[in-house]
Amino acid sequence: MKLTIFSTKAYERDQLNKYNQTHGHDLNFVEARLTPATATLARDTPAVSIFANDDGGAEALEALHAVGVRLIALRSAGFNHVDIETAEQLGMTLLRVPAYSPHAIAEHTVGLMLALNRKYHRAYNRIREQNFELDGLLGFDMNGKTVGVIGTGEIGAVVCKILTGFGCRVQAFDVKENPACREIGVDYVDLNALYESSDIITLHCPLTPKTYHLLNADALAKMKPGAMLINTSRGGVIDARAAIDVLKSGHLGSLGIDVYEEEADLFFKNLSGTIIQDDVFARLLTFPNVLITAHQAFFTEEALAGIYGTTLQNVTDFENDAIDDKKRVTSALVA
Ligand code: NAD
Repeated sequence: MKLTIFSTKAYERDQLNKYNQTHGHDLNFVEARLTPATATLARDTPAVSIFANDDGGAEALEALHAVGVRLIALRSAGFNHVDIETAEQLGMTLLRVPAYSPHAIAEHTVGLMLALNRKYHRAYNRIREQNFELDGLLGFDMNGKTVGVIGTGEIGAVVCKILTGFGCRVQAFDVKENPACREIGVDYVDLNALYESSDIITLHCPLTPKTYHLLNADALAKMKPGAMLINTSRGGVIDARAAIDVLKSGHLGSLGIDVYEEEADLFFKNLSGTIIQDDVFARLLTFPNVLITAHQAFFTEEALAGIYGTTLQNVTDFENDAIDDKKRVTSALVA
């Protein structure tokens, strides 16, 4: 089947070609992000593949539909960037990669915690300047600390397991409890209790209307003074302006993010030498206790193999009218 792949990066072409050997799809690589204006690049291709920062809004979907696209294969687990209702109204099929390597994201999450706690980002720069002082680098033992995990699905469950190994007391909130987490000693608590008693909070829920700005000014104010907040889920789960306020006041001890609400104009691009127009993001960059990675938590060899293998399999399944329902994105997922 002819498949237009939007937002293709150089590292993806070889991998996609490799995994495509068993599928034999006709791949049309496009570097541009999907937007209403670039949708016409998929002319005459019944299927497209998009990534986390492509615009899957109503206008873009209508433009894709107008040029004959019927399948959208997401190269991601998250689907907050796609207007599911519009896709359903247009009769377009949406398929995703529900789980590729939860370890990739979970390990990066814990990496952010350790780096912020022990200030590796600052130590690295200091040592390069031959400054071997320890002032300002004081951290704390992870052992014995209370970590609050919001969302204990595939990724959150692995985070719980790793942190249990560190000797942390892990507590969680989810709309649906995960028995595997209970088995390893995770306590489920309500959100307020989690905010008030966690030394570190880490976010692993999807971005939905219910989780949009879940960490707003109210929630941030309930957090323990000096606590750490980590977000590797989706940027919109945190109100970044409210986070800046509590960083400025000193109430929030540190912030580690791999995702940012307005990341589509920034991440996955080399913007060295340009002036960043996003003042909220520019302010976040100024804090010594904020560590930002540019949506790289998924970026391991194992995760890429899972993403490309499943994406191409999804296209084959669509072609053969043999779709695996677990891969479908429908409005029932956000109900
Ligand atoms: P998952 O579907 O396995 O788990 C999500 C969990 O969140 C589920 O247990 C669900 O019940 C829970 N949840 C849903 N609504 C909630 C709410 N209102 N409050 C609390 N919990 C709620 O998904 P996953 O594979 O663990 O991925 C989690 C998220 O991580 C994805 O939605 C995606 O946005 C993000 N992600 C980020 C990267 C990255 O590179 N940074 C990579 C993959 C996924």
